[in-house]
Amino acid sequence: MNTRRLLGLDILKEKYRYANDPQFGHMSAQKIPDRWVKTTCGYCSVGCGMLIGVKDGQAVSVRGDEEHPVNAGKLCPKGLSEHYTLRADGRLRQPLLRKNGKLEPVSWPEALEALVTNFRAVQAKHGREALGVISTGQLLTEEFYALGKLVQLGFRTRNYCGNTTLCMAAAAAGYKRSFGSDGPPGAYQDFETADVIFLIGANIADNHPILCQHVERNKAKHLVVVDPRVSKTAMLANTYLPIAPRTDIALLNGMLHVLIREDLIDHAYIAAHTNGFAELAASVAKYTPEFVAQITTLSPQQIVDAALLFGRAERPFLAWTMGVNHSSQGAETVNAICNLSLVRGKVGLSGASPFSITGQCNAMGTREAGFTSSLPGYRKFESAEDRAELAALWNVDVETIPSARGLAYPDIIEAMVKKQVRALWIIATNPLVSFPNQGLLRQAMGELDFLVVQDGYHPTPTTELAHLVLPAAIWGEKEGTYTNSERRVSKANRAVDPPGQARTDFDIFLLIAGRLGVKDSLFPNWTGPKDAFEEWRRVSAGRLCDYSGITYELLDREGAIQWPYREGDPIEVTRLYANGVFQFPDGKAKRIPIEWLPFPEQPNERFPFVLNTGRTVEHWHTRTKTGRVEILEFMSPKAWLEMNPHDAEKLGLRPHDQVDVVSRRGRVREVELRITAIVGPGQVFLPFHYAEFNSNFLTQSAFDPISREPNFKQSAVRVEKSGVQR
Ligand code: SF4
Repeated sequence: MNTRRLLGLDILKEKYRYANDPQFGHMSAQKIPDRWVKTTCGYCSVGCGMLIGVKDGQAVSVRGDEEHPVNAGKLCPKGLSEHYTLRADGRLRQPLLRKNGKLEPVSWPEALEALVTNFRAVQAKHGREALGVISTGQLLTEEFYALGKLVQLGFRTRNYCGNTTLCMAAAAAGYKRSFGSDGPPGAYQDFETADVIFLIGANIADNHPILCQHVERNKAKHLVVVDPRVSKTAMLANTYLPIAPRTDIALLNGMLHVLIREDLIDHAYIAAHTNGFAELAASVAKYTPEFVAQITTLSPQQIVDAALLFGRAERPFLAWTMGVNHSSQGAETVNAICNLSLVRGKVGLSGASPFSITGQCNAMGTREAGFTSSLPGYRKFESAEDRAELAALWNVDVETIPSARGLAYPDIIEAMVKKQVRALWIIATNPLVSFPNQGLLRQAMGELDFLVVQDGYHPTPTTELAHLVLPAAIWGEKEGTYTNSERRVSKANRAVDPPGQARTDFDIFLLIAGRLGVKDSLFPNWTGPKDAFEEWRRVSAGRLCDYSGITYELLDREGAIQWPYREGDPIEVTRLYANGVFQFPDGKAKRIPIEWLPFPEQPNERFPFVLNTGRTVEHWHTRTKTGRVEILEFMSPKAWLEMNPHDAEKLGLRPHDQVDVVSRRGRVREVELRITAIVGPGQVFLPFHYAEFNSNFLTQSAFDPISREPNFKQSAVRVEKSGVQR
């Protein structure tokens, strides 16, 4: 504090002065811009519309877009402070190349030369698939589309995946198995029209806060929250079901058992639109309320009541997120949810769908266009017809289109340990915080011949390890589209220039393509993201995720639009499968029997607690961005461990004690203890955002065999007072 302020001569009048903005009226004078630029939030998949205020070439404020159908002008704390990420400390301004062990600034030509020469050398020596690529859910759809072509057809490696495998792979795989294709059937409007809403493993109050306003608008709803932790969302529920960790499949099967027993199922729909009902019915015969009660720790009556609530609802809506997906049975849990929805025969009707709430702002875009777990447009690697169609659209030899997907994210890491993948390109993600079992990951990173990290910031734990760091523009500095959880395509626009020599990811991909010699064949006459979008419109035409009628001009004029959207379609809320026709050849959905299994690492005497991990509203993923935003850091500066009062008493621990959390794989030191009945006895909760208290030193290498999503939750741990190790 300066002397004038201390003496009361400076009352910060200038800082707190108000003035009139022509668009928004009375507001802080410092935040009144020269112009407002419409865009979409770059954090989570809710996809809120916003405006960035730009003054003298700098972003000085953001406002929620009152006309946007998703958020009607509201933003959560991350969105409200998003402009600070643009001029935060640590923005990367030029390429860095490791020389004599140190990262040193280099020119773009030198950086591109290093990338292409090293990748080619590794591929020449160890085979094309010795190059791995791990991207993100944070890029624009145009960038994902360009990157997929560059990696699969330019570098000719299939070992390409995204950090979306750490959050949404289970949902994508589950939809493919039940409905024949990825693609969430529902819409946010369903939160408003449903009479019963089941939120399963979905703490939307922290993770997708603006969705709460859709739930709140529905005054007639009965909200059921299924979660082992009394999350902020559970506190909003009419009915809270505190199930034991990872017992959701048992609950869902138990509900299905009751629906069949009480004949609360739609026989005509099941016969006309689904396969496999007899097998499914047989598989849930043993899931009586009494049997399920033993597994879930709910009472038999709670299970019956939940089933009857769902079975008697006119519009029953089931939504889920990471509590379901972060599981070695994630895809199967999604199938169990879809099974329940299908027997009511209302999939795709207003207020009545199984609905995955996605994680990142454009996880959907990479699923649709990204060329990782599917070919673009939800085409299948294994379909000769799909490959031929794509080759014709791209005017490339069909043999260049892979007929099977390559390694998924965890399998790329495992291949690094085995020295099969020798070079890695990481784009807009930070595995040195976010990937489970960090000990193994660090060993894998150490085996690489060449590591390239492309990011907006440096240092991060991952950029610090790189041989080459490429400086990328971030949200607010580039143009393109995001698709949110309800398939709504929204425009993101460039408000300010990237710092220094940072380039958009799109430009970087085209520069690399040029240096690789594939620019003209893969990206003919492309100069900007609109060229990619125009091609994507043609490639998606006729597919489930049909963008053919969506144009930049239409998005600018009409706002965000849901796919599928063909030219001339009315702009309205859309849902999938309302006609009962699914994406399998016979048009029928699959009803897949699912067995509940105990989670892989059970607690024991040495490690008696079940560790749950999750988020807090103030932070985003590994805090690369939000850790640099003062207000968010101020609100939530460090991790904490939640423990039930009974357990704390047994261990002689007191509130605010510093504790170490220990698993078979590692130790997180000096976490502040919060003693609270929010977590049940035998469970503890640690947020996963904090590199300094990284929960992934504790988590295990256990992955869903179907989707390859990690089992981030339910690791067995013990808790010790710091400095008093056993
Ligand atoms: S809810 Fe998600 S999309 Fe909306 S402002 Fe917050 S972080 Fe951004």
